[in-house]
Amino acid sequence: MKTKEHLALQVLHALDIALLRRVGVKKYEFFGQAPCFYDNLFPPSEDGPCVEPWHHSNMLEIFFEEVEHFFINQATDVFSSGIWQEEGKTGDESALIAIAQTFGCEQVIIIRLLQDDFNERSAILGKARAQLLENRVLTRSLELYKEKSQLDGLTKVLNRATFMESLPVQIRKSKSAGHPLSAIMLDIDDFKVINDTLGHITGDQVLRTLGRILRANLRRDDIVARYGGEEFIILLPACELWKALVIAEKLRETIEGHVADGVPQFTASMGCGLYRAGEAPDSYIQRVDIAMYEAKRNGKNQVCMC
Ligand code: GH3
Ligand code: MG
Ligand code: MG
Repeated sequence: MKTKEHLALQVLHALDIALLRRVGVKKYEFFGQAPCFYDNLFPPSEDGPCVEPWHHSNMLEIFFEEVEHFFINQATDVFSSGIWQEEGKTGDESALIAIAQTFGCEQVIIIRLLQDDFNERSAILGKARAQLLENRVLTRSLELYKEKSQLDGLTKVLNRATFMESLPVQIRKSKSAGHPLSAIMLDIDDFKVINDTLGHITGDQVLRTLGRILRANLRRDDIVARYGGEEFIILLPACELWKALVIAEKLRETIEGHVADGVPQFTASMGCGLYRAGEAPDSYIQRVDIAMYEAKRNGKNQVCMC
């Protein structure tokens, strides 16, 4: 090692500074020698000093998440985490600060131990940080709960209430974008027979399978919902009627040809319709539903349009 560099590292070491050099996405290597405080807080492994301290610290986890954006955006300024406290192996608390900085082509994380006079400040900030962490956990749980409450528990497609909320929104969106909007109403054929002959558990398996087929064969922006027992509704934004008919026919074939362990073969009838300007959402769905019943009347396992 060059003497100058060696000297710089000695100085850094004396200042209780730990340096991590970024070598890839969330990949770091240790630069120099880990100071005692670092080993105490983020235990080393056989390979040497810990290069993934975020596994040991909630605060560093947040910091490193933000740091990735910072480095990916090639920011040139300094990104700092503020001050927080960590409890080390000995049970002693240490006030720390983490800083991300770019030096030429090197992307570096500096983790510093702060001196006594910072401890009071860090205790106050520690409380604020704890609150922040708690809020983060709550926000995540809330998001998860919201997502779950929008889904049908059995089939994991949207539930009817969520669909009814999104229908007027989609109508408005397609109107303002000047795009067509199509819908498919789908009903499993002779589902009662499946339940009666093979049991409700197999019936449930059929419903789950259908949910999977629909989600796997539609675009991300398409809306799939369980409308009732064995009835599903699909909204196809920016989709003309002829395209919706092609999609429905393809779904019909996929459902008819689907083979899976423990799931009997089944078919579905579908009604397909284009939204007409000014039409009430309920009337639109009713119209598509009538088309589906026409498919049933005509002999099932087919697509009708309105
Ligand atoms: P069609 O071809 O005319 O649609 O006849 P079908 O037998 O599919 O329709 P029908 O309305 O006679 O029967 C639907 C059945 O779906 C009755 C109901 O018990 C069953 N069902 C509704 N929800 C569920 C569910 O969550 N799980 C199971 N296993 N069955 C359900
Ligand atoms: Mg049915
Ligand atoms: Mg039905």
